[in-house]
Amino acid sequence: MARDLDIADLAQRIADGERRALARGITLVESGRADHRKQAAQVLAALPQDRQALRIGLSGTPGVGKSTFIEAFGMMLIGQGLRVAVLAVDPSSARSGGSILGDKTRMDRLARAPAAFIRPSPSQTHLGGVARRTREAVRLCEGAGFDVVLIETVGVGQSETVVAQMADLFLLLLAPAGGDELQGVKRGIMEMADMILINKADGDLKSAATRTCADYAGALRLLRKRVQDPDGFPKAMMVSALHDAGIEAAWADMKGLDDWRRAQGHFEATRAAQARYWFEADVRAAVLAQLDTGAARAQMEAMGQAVVDGTLDPGTAADRVLETLKGQNGRP
Ligand code: GDP
Repeated sequence: MARDLDIADLAQRIADGERRALARGITLVESGRADHRKQAAQVLAALPQDRQALRIGLSGTPGVGKSTFIEAFGMMLIGQGLRVAVLAVDPSSARSGGSILGDKTRMDRLARAPAAFIRPSPSQTHLGGVARRTREAVRLCEGAGFDVVLIETVGVGQSETVVAQMADLFLLLLAPAGGDELQGVKRGIMEMADMILINKADGDLKSAATRTCADYAGALRLLRKRVQDPDGFPKAMMVSALHDAGIEAAWADMKGLDDWRRAQGHFEATRAAQARYWFEADVRAAVLAQLDTGAARAQMEAMGQAVVDGTLDPGTAADRVLETLKGQNGRP
């Protein structure tokens, strides 16, 4: 990337909705280089700050139909005159699941639509870094005037929490289950979901989908009612991404929920709570990262070995690392 990057010009072109400029801005926020990070911060600051998209998180295991759903849902939104951006949170550990998130070849029509922007997941290793970069990418998309930002993730581990904490609405996509088990969906994930969409409710799978939907509707009713939910939420419903069925109804419910939350003040309150959450997460991540650099890193190794050898007790060894850290920060 050229050193003489014109920040004001790039920000203006992003604000004008130029997709190539937006892609370039996201490349900046994804970069690990210090000069790029600085430019990214300047671009973010130069964007219109009053633009707001509806941020929708979407989680589901590989094969459940995320790409198919995003394509159908995105095309429907575009049909309503809205502009849609698709981002992905994809911790590398989840890559073994075999699916590349935000893969344009699997969202062919949407990828070609002028009102859509799709960004495949960066090949990042560290979830903390991914979280920050995705948040900044979301803000770039908002600055570019997108109405809806979809953030896609796979149904594993921590990535759901990351996405739920940066989304206004969180959707969990499931496939019809064969048996009567709740597909091992963890309670924590159920508690994050605003809507559970049982996909593939078509053809031979329709009756299984109906049963699965009823199971999840029952399970959701057992959860503690959240203050930011009107009656009937969180809810389970059936869709068929492949046959474009139930997608408009799902959107109507999303909008209904969002309108209600805005009217009640929950929308702003949740965004404020998220901002605080990420502020703290970023500070913690940065402090932890210091352990991986310079003298602290060497001291971690040395003290770890001393503890293993039995020459130091863990507490004393930890104190020595902390002293090294303080020295590293310029405090004797
Ligand atoms: P992803 O890995 O979650 O992104 O899943 P995909 O969107 O790639 O879909 C995985 C497979 O499920 C593909 O073969 C799709 O055609 C199929 N699929 C997706 N949605 C539906 C649906 O609504 N009904 C049926 N019958 N198949 C679907």
